[in-house]
Amino acid sequence: MTRPSALMASLPALALFLLMAPAHAAGLERLYAFDCGQVLANDQSRWSPGINVGKPIENSDNCYLIRHERGLLLWDTGYPDALADMPNGNTAATGTSRRKKKLMDDLAALGVRPADISYVAISHTHGDHIGNLDKFPASTLLMQAAEFAFAFQGKPTPFPASQSVMQLAGDHDVFGDGSVVIVSTPGHTPGHQSLMVNLPKTGVVLLSGDAVHFKDNWDHKRIPSMNTDRGQTVASMSRLEALMTQHKAQLWINHDKPQSDGMRRPPDFYE
Ligand SMILES: [Zn+2]
Repeated sequence: MTRPSALMASLPALALFLLMAPAHAAGLERLYAFDCGQVLANDQSRWSPGINVGKPIENSDNCYLIRHERGLLLWDTGYPDALADMPNGNTAATGTSRRKKKLMDDLAALGVRPADISYVAISHTHGDHIGNLDKFPASTLLMQAAEFAFAFQGKPTPFPASQSVMQLAGDHDVFGDGSVVIVSTPGHTPGHQSLMVNLPKTGVVLLSGDAVHFKDNWDHKRIPSMNTDRGQTVASMSRLEALMTQHKAQLWINHDKPQSDGMRRPPDFYE
């Protein structure tokens, strides 16, 4: 007879704890940062109009695997794995891209099979972010409806027709506990999105996709010439800045090579 009353007495305390507990008290466990390629670009000013015109720049490219007790989320898939089979890389008019290792091999080394991944979310649909999107047919693809319309409407998709696609209309709390949140940051493309991850020890990290390409552009709020909307780009950078202030968040800039060079790589991870 004492048990029900003891439970009743503990309920207000439990409710108070849940209200005070930060989002990372839930099931977010760890984040792996994969090297998903590099590009030696001929002209930095593609991203910084009027600045460093004609000067080459080397950009990194990352993919991230996030382990939550409710499932695995892969954020971006990088350059295609086939690039790793090309010893001289792939040279296009804008530069030469390379891949040291394959994403599939990186996942396998961690004991992760594609079918184990619940969600694949992409920042946007440029080729350096969706290179292996065909390899996760059992995962649910998380992307903005605006990005789907921009890149795939009426066109062949780089993933099977049977793929489960969740077309989002703005922000999305992936696991429902606030620990991994897709943040709408359009401007580079119409449905560009970023990811806010609240890790138990590292704290809040913003994976900014291509909302900004490297730190110098972030510091000067420059807008690349290929962006689809200047106003949206400015608003998205302001939004990321506000989130950084609000959550004391780190900004992880996908293509910033100096920052990426300092990253822990698997089997090491962030928790
Ligand atoms: Zn990119």
